[in-house]
Amino acid sequence: MPKLPFICANWKMYKTVGEAVQYVAAFRGLVRDLDGVEIVLAPAFTALHAAAEAARGSNIGIAAQDLHWEREGAYTGEVSGAMAREAGASYAIIGHSERRTLFADTDATVNRKIAAAFAAGLGPIACIGETLDQRERQETFDVLDRQIKLGFDGLTGDQIGRMVIAYEPVWAIGTGQNATPAQAAAAHGHIRRRLRQWFGEEAAGRCRIIYGGSVKPDNIRDLASQPDVDGALVGGASLDVRSFLEIVKAAAGGGAAI
Ligand code: PEP
Repeated sequence: MPKLPFICANWKMYKTVGEAVQYVAAFRGLVRDLDGVEIVLAPAFTALHAAAEAARGSNIGIAAQDLHWEREGAYTGEVSGAMAREAGASYAIIGHSERRTLFADTDATVNRKIAAAFAAGLGPIACIGETLDQRERQETFDVLDRQIKLGFDGLTGDQIGRMVIAYEPVWAIGTGQNATPAQAAAAHGHIRRRLRQWFGEEAAGRCRIIYGGSVKPDNIRDLASQPDVDGALVGGASLDVRSFLEIVKAAAGGGAAI
């Protein structure tokens, strides 16, 4: 089934409110006529609302970078899916490897956060991927299986079909060393097979599986043209309007497996 390529900028802990608004103001006119790609920006929580307002009426969507699984409560420092939705997000990144490594996210919390995202009306962008050690021990597919089994436990086929899964090999994030197109294709093919096996043909066919890890203007075409690669999650190269624009244009130009 043809799928619209999905390109999401993960701004991490970069960009103040003013910087985020300035970016969106410059970017929205540049992508106005691009309709072969879904474009999403994930600002820090502080800039979520302002970025969403700046993007209003454009073809740019907004994602939160995380959420808490409860709707509200005594959870100092946390932000719920309902809050992110009200601030203007339509997606939420969940289980990014930086959250797993630095902030104790686990497959179990990822599972709760995905359910909370759906309950709040947000589309989850769920991140999975192996570390370098795990790859060198040839455990990549086992790690992905575990993350899918535990992280997506209890989800319906319909929910899987509406999710975006980001395959992000941890060793490729922020290192400048992207997975080769063949490595990405092998991992994405494996994820798609498991989705088919565990959630059904339709869910597997509809779910967009995007690649993340040192995506740049000069490697997006090769990566996005691989079978089962439906777009990209972009960190460093999304911080600059021009380089992110090049990536988005390449994906819209039919680079992704659509
Ligand atoms: C990310 O943070 O999701 C990411 C892929 O970062 P980078 O593009 O900088 O590797």
